Amino acid sequence: MPPPQKISPRKDAPLSPSRKYRPAPPVWAATVTCVVQVCTRRLPQLVLCGVLGVFLAGCHTGGSGGGFAGLMGKRKDDTGLPQRHSVAADQLVVMSNLKLGAHHPLVEELKVLRNQVHDTLQLPNDKDGEKVTVYLFSNEMEYRKYIQETYPGLPFRRAYFIGTPERLAVYTFWGDKIREDLRHEYTHGLLHASLRTVPLWLDEGLAEYFEVPGAQPGTVNNEYAVRLAGAVQSGWRPDIHRLEQLEKVEQMHRADYRESWAWVHFMLHSTPDGKQVLLDYLQSLRDTDHPDLLSNSLIAALPETEARFLNYVATLNTYRQWMSTPAPEQFTGTKRNETISRANAP
Ligand SMILES: [Zn+2]
Repeated sequence: MPPPQKISPRKDAPLSPSRKYRPAPPVWAATVTCVVQVCTRRLPQLVLCGVLGVFLAGCHTGGSGGGFAGLMGKRKDDTGLPQRHSVAADQLVVMSNLKLGAHHPLVEELKVLRNQVHDTLQLPNDKDGEKVTVYLFSNEMEYRKYIQETYPGLPFRRAYFIGTPERLAVYTFWGDKIREDLRHEYTHGLLHASLRTVPLWLDEGLAEYFEVPGAQPGTVNNEYAVRLAGAVQSGWRPDIHRLEQLEKVEQMHRADYRESWAWVHFMLHSTPDGKQVLLDYLQSLRDTDHPDLLSNSLIAALPETEARFLNYVATLNTYRQWMSTPAPEQFTGTKRNETISRANAP
């Protein structure tokens, strides 16, 4: 019987045929993507999950296509995966056919990210924790071929995170979004290495939060801040209860990722009480696969939660000191210009 899996595609839209990506460099350079394995992999119920079907979680818009049956991995071994070179750092293992230095800037960044995730969320910083393996294909063509042959029901995305009872794995290829993609997906992997389960909306909100590079966690996603402020002005109202009901990637749209990110940012940065609610909730996820709703604790701790949240997101784009800063030169490419143009978009 195929193992139960939880699959999460990268949030962004599929690549267009004309999309340009940098040619593979002589050494491995990278950026990440998103993977979500919301299922409680360590529990007996996981087997039941596998019987019922594959769970599709993930980032951003896009249907699962093909249905659950089409998502079951068709390979029984590791053929087709990049495995000529490997680099290990704490919980991270990168497999690639390109030679990647052990101290490549991306590896160093992911090591820092791991500490930031654990420190910020007060998760156990166990260097012997479950590994997250990144399969980094040399180019889009090789990656696309592997995904299509192995998971023929999956729509194309720049990266996938697939969690099974055997391993937490990220699949992606060398391209100009590799940095943010890897930050996002590795965050998913770290969460699922520590927690028994993570609600979909919170899983994505945290991955979005840590996806944004910065010296400290919490750098504002420019695009999200601008769009949320505009939405508030247009009469939009948040609904954390609705987010908590989302269970499948097909149900999550781009706006839901934005709102999930904003709730995480709000909890971590608005008041100590809000942060404590999130930290306590994450601790509960270490011990149970049937958690309460986070909103219950949040509303109890913060009277007039919605009004506070609205005020927070309405002004997020004015916190210039939190806005995204240009990425290090080795990662930038077109990223900086893209970020600026998105931030200024209506
Ligand atoms: Zn994700």
